[in-house]
Amino acid sequence: MRLQVFAWLSEQVQRHGDVLPRKLLEQGFVSPAGERIVLLGPQGIWKPRSFQLPLSITTSPDSPYDDAFGEDGALHYRYKGTNPLDPVNVRLSEAGRQQVPLVYFHGIVKGKYLVVWPVFIVGEEPARLTFRVMADDAMAMQELQDRAGVSETAEGRRAYVTASVRQRLHQRGFRERVLRAYREQCTICRLKHPELLDAAHIIPDSAEGAVSVANGLSLCKLHHAAYDKMVLGITPDYTVSIRKDVLEEIDGPMLKHGLVGLHGQALTLPSRKQERPNRDWLDRRYSEFLRGA
Ligand SMILES: [Zn+2]
Repeated sequence: MRLQVFAWLSEQVQRHGDVLPRKLLEQGFVSPAGERIVLLGPQGIWKPRSFQLPLSITTSPDSPYDDAFGEDGALHYRYKGTNPLDPVNVRLSEAGRQQVPLVYFHGIVKGKYLVVWPVFIVGEEPARLTFRVMADDAMAMQELQDRAGVSETAEGRRAYVTASVRQRLHQRGFRERVLRAYREQCTICRLKHPELLDAAHIIPDSAEGAVSVANGLSLCKLHHAAYDKMVLGITPDYTVSIRKDVLEEIDGPMLKHGLVGLHGQALTLPSRKQERPNRDWLDRRYSEFLRGA
């Protein structure tokens, strides 16, 4: 049954990427035995009726991503309530004892969740009312089926995979927040296909303030590449500037309408002021563009 869930999730991730809408997860799928399997419930720890042990754990989108991680690098997942002997908590402990693979959903923005599996309960801190959770990769399932248990290499791998989950949370969170601020359209050409949109950074990811929406631009694939390759620049007063030599080129419709025709045009911006691009950062990037041009 669990393997059917993982197979279904693989399909969804191939289709939609690893951030899935809550609606889809609540709807779930119908198993070959005719049972509807829902992937998450109203409470964080979720067990479908026909399952002995929990299937998934969910973190709501309200708290900062880093709050979910302990100093040991593991995810820290709160007990249901404050009683370790609550049957829900007891069943999740048991899932840990048996090393049953679980699914982890982490809310990125309202109604959208990063999905990670398999994850395992690897310990508990009753004093802090938390479970320790580590993510693993698909190899883990084979290993568990072979009853090899959790080896030292598996522990190292889990630490690595869990750290990458943290990174994904930040990346996907940035994308969702930026695209939402721009109402899912390219700020330059207003193309409205999320599958063709990126959340571009104005200043590098590692710099100060880099994760704020004010460091983001919602750009279609063409305009993202053109921005990164300095074919186009964005001025601190929110207008598009096409590089001079490109402006003088004569070519087909993509060049004409997709680049040259947009020179001097104003960006389509988020309605909320604090989500608009930071002018100092735009200025820094635009100076680079001018030097390159
Ligand atoms: Zn565009």
